[in-house]
Amino acid sequence: MTPPLVLDIRDLAVEFRQGRKTPPLRAVDGVSLSIREGETVGLVGESGSGKSTIGRAVLGLNPIHSGRVHFEGTDITHAARATRRGLADRLQVVFQDPYSSLNPARTIGRTLAEPLVAQRRSDRAAIAERVATMLERVGMPADTADRYPGQFSGGQRQRIAIARALMISPRLVICDEPVSALDLSIQAQVMNLLGDLQREFALSYLFIAHDLPVVRHLSHRIIVLYRGRVMESGTADEVYSDPVHPYTQTLLAAVPVPDPRAQRARRQRRVAAEPARPPSAAGCVFAHRCAHAVDICHIVRPEPLPLPGPSGTHTAACHRSAELHPHPVAVNPSAKQHPVPTGHHVREGSSCEDSE
Ligand code: ADP
Ligand code: MG
Repeated sequence: MTPPLVLDIRDLAVEFRQGRKTPPLRAVDGVSLSIREGETVGLVGESGSGKSTIGRAVLGLNPIHSGRVHFEGTDITHAARATRRGLADRLQVVFQDPYSSLNPARTIGRTLAEPLVAQRRSDRAAIAERVATMLERVGMPADTADRYPGQFSGGQRQRIAIARALMISPRLVICDEPVSALDLSIQAQVMNLLGDLQREFALSYLFIAHDLPVVRHLSHRIIVLYRGRVMESGTADEVYSDPVHPYTQTLLAAVPVPDPRAQRARRQRRVAAEPARPPSAAGCVFAHRCAHAVDICHIVRPEPLPLPGPSGTHTAACHRSAELHPHPVAVNPSAKQHPVPTGHHVREGSSCEDSE
């Protein structure tokens, strides 16, 4: 049985005003994505591609220009503040910088208790017990509750931020680059913790990161974003091991791999760096950097095209995808199509990259 949809985003567009004479900046342009119960969807793309804007739009922090956002079957596209407050029980966020969610002047115990105190459903003893349980669950020592955020390392603060997000048993956690600021070995520990918590609480994650190897380990499906548009999407294996869109290949080319032959092949796919001139909105937004671009790419916007493959969900928004990808590589059909707990851990003390 397919697990129920937790989040469903259809054709989302978010615009920011840039002054009276300049047209608005379309930071998110026609993005659709959905997340099922217990599933992690990885959202990747270089800095400025619109990842955080999507997360913030779901959280009601960015105005939505057009499109629809459904959460657990309810349309929350333009939800009023009262509805939003009600959602806080089920929709939480972990940011890259835990300082933004942890008040430096408050004890960790007080910060973690906040959502429960706001609900007025539990007494003080029950709240203190819940705080202690969650801190222990994320691997923090018992005296953490009486201390302040400044007394902890970046990795520990991120554990605390995760504990805070889970205080009231949410269904979906938006993780916006939660490990990007951490050392590689600490990244692996925090990723493993997120994976364990997902299995334990049947959580869904929208996992945002700027590099593919980080999202690959936790994600069932991956969506590749560039300049506010979806370039490619599919299962984590399809997108990582069999990338079709030239932009996805560029993202992967930036990642070091242990095998020198594979590394050389990837390097050859590297393309020109981002030029200052913005691309034409009419065609493919990647065309000006793409080694495979032909006339049509500069004129007609490519829609996501289904690619042959076992999952039936691999798509690339590329006019040339059929030519560039004539023989699909066999991908293990049982691999991560559905939110099956994988139980595998990133090796700690190593990076998240290619450690399988
Ligand atoms: P990412 O998270 O992928 O790095 P963002 O979603 O933060 O990218 O930003 C996407 C684009 O939208 C960028 O060009 C950024 O400058 C712009 N942007 C984001 N937030 C705002 C805002 N509040 N006002 C104006 N422009 C914004
Ligand atoms: Mg961001």
